[in-house]
Amino acid sequence: MIEVHSMNQRQADVVIVGAGLAGLAAARALAAAGADVIVLEARERVGGRVYTRPASDGTLLDLGAQWIGPAQQRIAALAQAVGAATFPTYVDGLNIEYRDGQRATYAGAIPMNDPIAAMETIETLLELNLMAQDVPLDAPWTAARAAEWDAQTVASWMEAHVSSEIARMWLTLGVQAVFSAEPRDLSLLHFLLYVHSGGSLNELISVTRGAQEQRFREGAQSIAEKVAVALGDRVILNAPVHTISQDDRVVCVESDGVTVTGKRAIIAIPPTLAGRLRYRPALPAHRDQLTQRVPMGTVIKVHCLYAAPFWRGDGLSGQVASDSGIVRVTFDNSPASGSPGVLLSFIEGDEGRVWGRRGIDERRAAVLECLARYFGAKAGEPLEYVEQNWAEEEYTRGCYAGYLPPGVLSMYGDALREPIDRLHWAGTETATVWNGYMDGAVQSGERAAAEVLALL
Ligand SMILES: Cc1cc2nc3c(=O)[nH]c(=O)nc-3n(C[C@H](O)[C@H](O)[C@H](O)COP(=O)(O)OP(=O)(O)OC[C@H]3O[C@@H](n4cnc5c(N)ncnc54)[C@H](O)[C@@H]3O)c2cc1C
Repeated sequence: MIEVHSMNQRQADVVIVGAGLAGLAAARALAAAGADVIVLEARERVGGRVYTRPASDGTLLDLGAQWIGPAQQRIAALAQAVGAATFPTYVDGLNIEYRDGQRATYAGAIPMNDPIAAMETIETLLELNLMAQDVPLDAPWTAARAAEWDAQTVASWMEAHVSSEIARMWLTLGVQAVFSAEPRDLSLLHFLLYVHSGGSLNELISVTRGAQEQRFREGAQSIAEKVAVALGDRVILNAPVHTISQDDRVVCVESDGVTVTGKRAIIAIPPTLAGRLRYRPALPAHRDQLTQRVPMGTVIKVHCLYAAPFWRGDGLSGQVASDSGIVRVTFDNSPASGSPGVLLSFIEGDEGRVWGRRGIDERRAAVLECLARYFGAKAGEPLEYVEQNWAEEEYTRGCYAGYLPPGVLSMYGDALREPIDRLHWAGTETATVWNGYMDGAVQSGERAAAEVLALL
């Protein structure tokens, strides 16, 4: 018998925990099918890792997710359905390569100034793409070489297979940029699954024809907000869920504000946060041991605003690939109008771990010193500096997504999506396509909704 403690009680067919894109996509699909649904969201806003704020001049800044690529059909369909328009990421001009204290320029996705290293980088990308094709998206632990690949990290594989130190350094930068974690953190099997789920490494790291191709005119959070508006009072904000109980009749989801009883629940939050909820009865060891093993990446996303995108006049795209410094990857993040100029910098992986513990003034000075080195003195004097440290966020605890260290996928991977009686799991970490991306979040929500609908 379930004991309910909250005075504020509601009922629905399906209770959803989390109003990120996964939870909202699930709610939208369920509501469209006529199911009665309630979404409980911890924050005072919807969107989760999708979060758009205005700078002081009103320029919209995506402090979380922002890009969409041509192969990301689910988020594109959702954006189109709610009327969220896109525009192309600025790519004209040359990119900057900063290596061994020297600045050079290059065109394309991979720095080419050391031809031998560039050749080995390209060959390694091709080899990893081929290996990724051998990892089944829905059951990666069944890959012929799953045990071997899940027993090593991306770093140990690179040590054994990539001879050029410069190629290893660029590949490391690629891993940091895609996972906001270090090659030593990641299971090679998980890395290959992630690559396969997004098509290829080339698609993951590219702007043109890749995952960084387009941005949303009103910011990416506008998609979540538009979905939430259509759902109306089915979405309840400021309702952090802490306890989920189930018996053979119902599931009861208790939050700080309201308790909802339903037939099924969809938990659409990152696995590590799902592991912090209390379950009655307690979850099986297999599921709990999984959620003990899915850490989030570490990223601080920084926007610097200038009167104009002055680097464009210098024939530069605004993109940097660097071997050193707090910021190693940058993009031109100016609005579609091109005014003001906005440089986007990422502080990723170990840099995020080290610098996240320091004060904002020290961090800002280090970021601006890097930008001045890449783009000249003007870059060191922005009109405004805006940063978002995702590891500090109580209801996210890191980004871009949860990743898997060695051994987890082959031993616990089946617990990522497997329902436990009335509980179903969503969130981008459970996606089989574009895992870790907005597209994966939408797929996971729609998959969980279909699972539930089949059982209602
Ligand atoms: C800086 C950054 C850049 C990124 N860039 C891109 C990009 O360019 N393109 C791209 O496709 N993806 C990008 N991503 C990844 C993308 O944001 C995520 O894959 C996607 O938004 C995840 O959606 P989700 O619904 O699975 O999870 P979330 O967005 O994390 O949603 C979970 C929701 O649950 C809520 N919640 C948590 N705990 C509780 C609780 N106890 N009770 C109730 N509610 C709770 C949270 O507040 C949140 O709203 C980026 C992420 C970050 C942070």
